[in-house]
Amino acid sequence: MRLEIAQKPGWGKRGMQGLALAAFGLLLAGCGKSPEDGGHVAEATISAPAAGVTEARIIAAEEGAWLSHGRTYDEQRYSPLAQITSDNVGRLGLAWSYRLPTARGTEATPLVFDGVLYTTGPWSLVYALDAASGELLWSYDPKVPTEWARYACCDVVNRGVAAWGNSIFVATLDGRLVALDAKTGEQQWSVQTTDPERPYTITGAPRVVKGKVLIGNGGAELGVRGYVSAYDADTGEQLWRFYTVPGDPSLPFESEVLQGAADTWKGGEWWKIGGGGTVWDSMAYDPELDLLYIGVGNGSPWSRHIRSPGGGDNLFLSSIVALKPDTGAYVWHYQTTPGDSWDYTATQHMILADLDIDGKPRKVLMQAPKNGFFYVLDRQTGELISARNFVQTTWASHVDMETGRPVETPQARFADAPSFALPSPFGAHNWHPMTYSPDTGLVYIPAQEVPFVYGKDQDFKYAPGYWNLGVDPSLAAMPEDPEVAQQLAAMIKGRIIAWNPVTQEEAFHVEHPGPWNGGMLSTAGNLLFQGTPLGQFLALSADTGEQLWSFPSQTGIVAAPISYQVGGVQYVAVMAGWGGTFPLFLGAAYPPGATEMVNQLLVFRLDGKAGLPALKTVERVMPKPPGQEISDEELALGKRVYHLRCGICHGESAIGGGIIPDLRYMSEQVHKNFYAIVLGGASYKAGMPAFGQILSAEEAKATHAYIIDRAQKAWEQQSPASE
Ligand code: CA
Repeated sequence: MRLEIAQKPGWGKRGMQGLALAAFGLLLAGCGKSPEDGGHVAEATISAPAAGVTEARIIAAEEGAWLSHGRTYDEQRYSPLAQITSDNVGRLGLAWSYRLPTARGTEATPLVFDGVLYTTGPWSLVYALDAASGELLWSYDPKVPTEWARYACCDVVNRGVAAWGNSIFVATLDGRLVALDAKTGEQQWSVQTTDPERPYTITGAPRVVKGKVLIGNGGAELGVRGYVSAYDADTGEQLWRFYTVPGDPSLPFESEVLQGAADTWKGGEWWKIGGGGTVWDSMAYDPELDLLYIGVGNGSPWSRHIRSPGGGDNLFLSSIVALKPDTGAYVWHYQTTPGDSWDYTATQHMILADLDIDGKPRKVLMQAPKNGFFYVLDRQTGELISARNFVQTTWASHVDMETGRPVETPQARFADAPSFALPSPFGAHNWHPMTYSPDTGLVYIPAQEVPFVYGKDQDFKYAPGYWNLGVDPSLAAMPEDPEVAQQLAAMIKGRIIAWNPVTQEEAFHVEHPGPWNGGMLSTAGNLLFQGTPLGQFLALSADTGEQLWSFPSQTGIVAAPISYQVGGVQYVAVMAGWGGTFPLFLGAAYPPGATEMVNQLLVFRLDGKAGLPALKTVERVMPKPPGQEISDEELALGKRVYHLRCGICHGESAIGGGIIPDLRYMSEQVHKNFYAIVLGGASYKAGMPAFGQILSAEEAKATHAYIIDRAQKAWEQQSPASE
């Protein structure tokens, strides 16, 4: 199973060593230097040195700072600060907080240096705050058009800024890369990195390597071609672009590498839809090897039956690719999921570390992608050192160490019939960052098990600008039988897995009530920090997993915490704000509470005494739904169309998660305007597309009927005697 492409010229000697929703439904309804040593400048004065952030500073990994997305280029997300320890963490309290003017998914990792904390919120807004006091120094609103939300598969989130020189860089939901003056927030330059005619979005944090700002993009659920680009940090000039999948083979390829990759795509017209392979989150950099690593996403559309009907690995989908940061030249790749058909991205967090394996020091790259296997690669050559599943995987039994490829199970590709599967498109591990502690030698994975049913979309027709999965999400809709639903709900799990990457074994795990828990931080104080969907921010012992402390965050947390030191005080900070793809799809898993949704930055220190303002309560009153007579056929059509076109944002089985409107709560007026909104685009500005071009009047009517039916069932449940 060696890839023949490896033998092609131009691939380099190292070549290819590497050679909902229903389930959703399934898902439950219930479902050291001290600061005195000069680790950084004069705290609280907020005056940056003239040179600002440099490669030397990032590589030096200043103890008190967090200078790059994963703190250091190796993205370990381990803080060497040890003022807060597993012995005194009980004294941890809120130092200050900052309430954002938004209420959507909040996924940013803040940066901190020279006394200032830089972070982002929903809609790509940027905030600079005094890291000790929480005073807002400046904020920047890129004014993303609200209608662009329709292209955001997974909420209008942003995962943070990058810093270089005296600039802060943010990538916006609508595809711009913007440089801001770190002191004032004034815009220095802005470039459009994507074709505005295609449904590209950016949610990931840029990285800066050798004065080049690196950024990818997303959109593979709708139909785009993935790539990563480098821009000059001073001028915004584009320096290079690496496409992750081949374009139209009738046109010249951008490189020999892509020409070789095109041989792994067979039949079909993938380039019309885009092919996918978006680089929407993870990167890492090894300054010694001078290699940049990018994580590449799923196929567009998901289903290989449509994308590449003749089979093939479809490079570089679901791959880790090593590039030269100066030129974007390909060096090696390892494909985690050849011929992806499951949305098994390899965009998940990559960690670089030096490990002793079989008595030899190895420079490794580690990833736990959506597909459920933990990979340890030699990061110089791309050679697979080991791979082992960290959760149950139904699509592949194991990774063959001879070929470096997964051994797929017979039902994996849902060729003849729908296939019940673990992991799901939510992933065994999604974007939520892991952490590696060199003290314990363990990688801590925010892992989850969410089942799914994959099946072909038999009527698939490419609809530009809309979702184009090629699988039928209605197959994954919640079974009507409550007993079956309950059994499925019991399969949905979330946990921290403490993983030994040397032995490829679990050291221990900490079970959570459910999935979609926050990203992670480890510290030299023998601590782990993580937030939960149920609004708790936790500190745990890194060596045993024992929970030592918790704080009610007033909202679910999905982002990863950081730690920094200013004025001799160690702080732990986390962005709190529930959202992302999970509550959009699976609102039933964590129903909205009785209080307003908020986004806030929470910052803790020992003996912190600050409090949080109380939240407003929200009355959720379901209006009495209209009555209707409807045939079983019409209801079945409505259910299918709903899950194909609506459920991905408004929730499986029409159960909302509180992020965007729960359609069962539609007012009489909205029912009246239903066709104007759904077909005519009357709510376009709110991010609701007009479906007039792709839905017939009959389909729209059936969809409305299905929503009314769901509302009636919920109405009867909440007030059985109200008729
Ligand atoms: Ca995806």
